Amino acid sequence: SGDDAAAPVAPSDPSPADASPSAVDHPTLGPLDDARAQLAFAVDHLGLDDGMHRLLATPRRELTVSVPLRRDDGSTTLFLGHRVQHNFSRGPAKGGLRFSPNVDLDEVRALAMWMTWKCALVDVPYGGAKGGIAIDPRAHSQAELERVTRRYTSEIMPLIGPEQDIPAPDIGTDERTMAWMMDTYSVNVGHTVPGVVTGKPLSLGGSLGRASATSRGVAHAAVLAMRHRGLDPDASTAAVQGFGKVGRDAARLLAEAGVKVEAISDVDGAVHRAGGIDVAGLIEHVDATGSVRGFEGGEEIDGAALLELDVDTLVPAAIEGVITEANAARVSARIVVEGANGPTTEAADAILRERDVLVVPDILANAGGVIVSYFEWVQANQAYWWSEREVNDKLAERMTKAWEAVLLQATRHGQSMREAATCLAVARVTEAHQLRGLYP
Ligand code: GLU
Repeated sequence: SGDDAAAPVAPSDPSPADASPSAVDHPTLGPLDDARAQLAFAVDHLGLDDGMHRLLATPRRELTVSVPLRRDDGSTTLFLGHRVQHNFSRGPAKGGLRFSPNVDLDEVRALAMWMTWKCALVDVPYGGAKGGIAIDPRAHSQAELERVTRRYTSEIMPLIGPEQDIPAPDIGTDERTMAWMMDTYSVNVGHTVPGVVTGKPLSLGGSLGRASATSRGVAHAAVLAMRHRGLDPDASTAAVQGFGKVGRDAARLLAEAGVKVEAISDVDGAVHRAGGIDVAGLIEHVDATGSVRGFEGGEEIDGAALLELDVDTLVPAAIEGVITEANAARVSARIVVEGANGPTTEAADAILRERDVLVVPDILANAGGVIVSYFEWVQANQAYWWSEREVNDKLAERMTKAWEAVLLQATRHGQSMREAATCLAVARVTEAHQLRGLYP
């Protein structure tokens, strides 16, 4: 099975949990189990051999670094950071950097693998990577986050570069983090290299449209899914879990498309209003108070209950593993659009499929971010900038093209959209690998 496909060749991992990587020995399954199970399905469907399976299940490189931080009070705290490069067959590695207390190597491995499939699916010329530091960014000052970012960047310097591996924002990081990374890298190589990261501020070579690109892609995918299911966006309802980089603009753009966004949550709480929340008003409230709690334009509900609300479309746009075996049977939405990476576990996925819920998988639904990251990298490397209109049009074009390819594959082979998307992506990566051949 794919669960232990990587075990014999996986580089050593300091965490004891990884000593026996087979799913059987894990008390609870994590994102890496989900990612490996998805890969195993595609390997089986495509008839790839065991050697190819192991190659695709195993990251090409992994680096774990310690990141000592001099605190503002003069004391020292140590954090662990990782950068995992999963695959390079189609181009340099690409993927975000996550700051979250729960980051561990297995999570970063899963996220790196998903980046490989995502980039292949929407046909941007990258492999996949991911980075993370086990740190709670909310518990640190700007100055501390800057020092952590710069030290981490300097530790992973040998791995990154505009032609090697290009980080971007993810949970807990933003355009300021990218500015520090770009500066640290540039100072070390002796000249400015804007193409080393994406998701930069506009004034440092960022792209118009990048900040809202993931959300724009999510909203686009949601509307395509509604139409596919015969729903008029104007007459439909949605709930959005997460009000960060993805959920906030996804809710706003869905509302702009006429969808009644009836519930929205963040880490601190959730609000509900039948007939639709005033998303612009909620954005103002969150900007002023830091959380959706206490918003007057709706009643407070339980964050977990949001996932089970009677709405047409559910958009999990926070973290992985929120739709599980425990709640999947109670998801009332007919469409799930995965703004987050890996929000649905394998077991939950099977339940949703059984219940004929249309799941637009993460590697399709949230690919807008990396698509516009690619546009940013192309623009930065050429030092020639596009209009926002051009960016948004090209993004919509790529999202629609990927959606149609996935739908065609799903219909032809009787697959779920996730199975279809994974098969298309794995086939493209395998083709690139085989055309290049194995060195030596
Ligand atoms: N972190 C985002 C993702 O998971 C963006 C990655 C990128 O732009 O490289 O897709």
